[in-house]
Amino acid sequence: MAVVAARDVADIETLVRFAGEAGVPVAAQPGGHAPTAAQSGAIILRTAALDEVVLDRDARRVRAGAGVKWQAVLDVLDGTGLMADIGSNGDVSVVGYLLGGGMSWFSRAHGLAASRVVSYDVVDATGTARTVDADTDPELFWALRGGGGDFAVVTAVEFGLFECDRLYGGALHWPGARNEQVLSAYAAVTAAAPAALTLWVWWGTWPDVDGLPPEMRGQSFITVNFTYLGSAEDAEPYLAELRAVPDTVLDTTGDVQPSALPLVAGEGDHPRPAMDWAQLLSEVDGAVVTSLAKLTGPASGSPLIMCLRHLGGAFATDCGGAAGSITQPYLLLAFGMPMAPGVAEQVHEHWAGLEREFSAYLDGSTQCNMLGYEHRPHHAFPSETLVRLRDVKRRHDPRGTIRGNRPVLSD
Ligand SMILES: Cc1cc2nc3c(=O)[nH]c(=O)nc-3n(C[C@H](O)[C@H](O)[C@H](O)COP(=O)(O)OP(=O)(O)OC[C@H]3O[C@@H](n4cnc5c(N)ncnc54)[C@H](O)[C@@H]3O)c2cc1C
Repeated sequence: MAVVAARDVADIETLVRFAGEAGVPVAAQPGGHAPTAAQSGAIILRTAALDEVVLDRDARRVRAGAGVKWQAVLDVLDGTGLMADIGSNGDVSVVGYLLGGGMSWFSRAHGLAASRVVSYDVVDATGTARTVDADTDPELFWALRGGGGDFAVVTAVEFGLFECDRLYGGALHWPGARNEQVLSAYAAVTAAAPAALTLWVWWGTWPDVDGLPPEMRGQSFITVNFTYLGSAEDAEPYLAELRAVPDTVLDTTGDVQPSALPLVAGEGDHPRPAMDWAQLLSEVDGAVVTSLAKLTGPASGSPLIMCLRHLGGAFATDCGGAAGSITQPYLLLAFGMPMAPGVAEQVHEHWAGLEREFSAYLDGSTQCNMLGYEHRPHHAFPSETLVRLRDVKRRHDPRGTIRGNRPVLSD
């Protein structure tokens, strides 16, 4: 395996030309949050040196290089009254996230983050640097807004921001014994939530293994994370049912500055080994709550760490790119941490159990950025979108010089 750390765009042009002539694909991998076996045999391209972050306050835009992680963008937004359509994590690369469509904390209010992309600077499959936008190359621009990293090496992206005077949010944490009550309150709160309010709930039992902090080992928990585009006074009435669940052991809610937003989800700041599974869910009713508590609650013996994300609102608005829109109101995620022998097999069994139990609510589809390690592109894209993406791939990269982690011709 070869790994190239580019110093600048010229290095990437040289690399792509070399790779094209040698018949070896190039796979951009800025941070390694979403590696797949499809990148085996490719030249791995590191982009950390492309680290520019330029804020244009008047135009409400940011230009970010391909090595920039979200935390670096958030850091420059403190005190500006502006916010970006970021997801849960500050360590994910801006370009990687936007290429996958971008499911933001604020997508219920604004739609998928890809809708804010103004232009991409790329090195295309011929090894030529150019700017791609709605005028210069509408078809490639469409593919890059949510179709993944299979079409060109992106060297920088320019995207829009939005005015945000106040952001309220945080995490409420309960012991696992409150699992069903919290899930039930979560279902009620999300059913009535305005688009400005986004809530996710996490639960599970951490494995009792070395490598985890002692206070987490073997412990069951359930946590609700939320953000609200506005003040505490306006947000709190919507949270009443959750506030009524007793035994909250941690409450981090308060006003949130842009740079502190990743702390709301608190996922940490480096890639971890995990088996991931995520599917869009058509409803969270009483039956789903009861089944989730039974199959994945503290008494279940499940090895899965679970998450439900509330979608809805402007998620259903077409983003203008390959990511399209999402009409299902929830995303169900189930992570396994294969940190001991036999756990991987248990994780597969429990995933199969979820798919059986919730077959009436799941259709196997997910979002590009949430594709699990066993998923293929057709799980994220409707067939007409996949046909169009394959056409873009064949026309822009006939030799297969660019290799995304989800190659669109691989299905
Ligand atoms: C903890 C965690 C939380 C997350 N939360 C969210 C969330 O809230 N919302 C959401 O939408 N997603 C979320 N994601 C998913 C994340 O956005 C995707 O996994 C994304 O692809 C990660 O990009 P990366 O560059 O950091 O990772 P990498 O593994 O380095 O790259 C992933 C892929 O992106 C493509 N790519 C990246 N950079 C380039 C480039 N310069 N040129 C061409 N292709 C490129 C390549 O195909 C590459 O294989 C989360 C992921 C993690 C691990």
